[in-house]
Amino acid sequence: MIKQSLIDLESMFDIQKQDPTIKDIQDPLEFEPKSGELVFDNVKFQYNNERQILKGISFRVGAGKQMAIVGPSGAGKTTINRLLFRFYDPTEGTITIDGVDITKIRQSDLRKHVGIVPQDTVLFNDTTLAKTAQIHDKIEQFPSAWETKVGERGLRLSGGEKQRVAIARSVLKAPHVMVFDEATASLDTNTEKEIQDNLRKAFKGKITTIVLAHRLSTIIDSDEIIVVKEGAIIERGTHDELLLMNGEYKLLWDKQSTSNNMYLKETV
Ligand code: ATP
Repeated sequence: MIKQSLIDLESMFDIQKQDPTIKDIQDPLEFEPKSGELVFDNVKFQYNNERQILKGISFRVGAGKQMAIVGPSGAGKTTINRLLFRFYDPTEGTITIDGVDITKIRQSDLRKHVGIVPQDTVLFNDTTLAKTAQIHDKIEQFPSAWETKVGERGLRLSGGEKQRVAIARSVLKAPHVMVFDEATASLDTNTEKEIQDNLRKAFKGKITTIVLAHRLSTIIDSDEIIVVKEGAIIERGTHDELLLMNGEYKLLWDKQSTSNNMYLKETV
């Protein structure tokens, strides 16, 4: 336990030592979003001089709405997410929340109001929480129940359980904008559906949600889906509208049809 704690401390100090590339502007705005409307306006970005990665991304997610981003590997989905969290700033264009340019906001305020459930959840020692994410029963089984300390690598929890803790944390943080980076990738189908149902109920109309999706079955009822390819939006619409377009989305959907059929059978 001591060894693990030292490893945790060491990794925490390593993170703290890193010099952030993005810094607050002088006199950053204090930010208290009202509704959480998110707008990307002609956002362009490149990591280096070699290649432009995002080639003018524009979308608007209304307060409390859900938008999903799909597209092939390397399309730029994660990059869009990184810009939203200000790990980098756009080279052109703006990202606004409730009309406020996020580069003008104090970063700590931004992080308070934008939550994420990452693909790979790293847990520092912490007291675990929450029923919304269906992790409550598991926690009760631990000898110290709600006082259980979870190790840096989440040693006592499976991948899916770690992700549920991450969801729980994000829910408790009550952000205005929430990003799911294929949130339930490592969860089994039934649990996944239950969690998503719970989350949708908890979030509906309250939290603006972005889903970076790999499996389309989880995002069919999103308010809007954008299809990104090579850094540009090539199609957008609801699931039904996109299928009718008979384009890239339809191809992706057909490719995943075996798993979709399974999903549909379960939900009928
Ligand atoms: P996946 O579905 O595989 O996660 P993605 O759609 O999220 O892919 P990104 O991770 O946003 O795609 O990557 C978009 C492009 O940017 C890729 O060509 C990738 O190689 C490049 N890229 C990503 N991160 C960096 C970086 N730190 N430096 C330089 N290029 C990068």
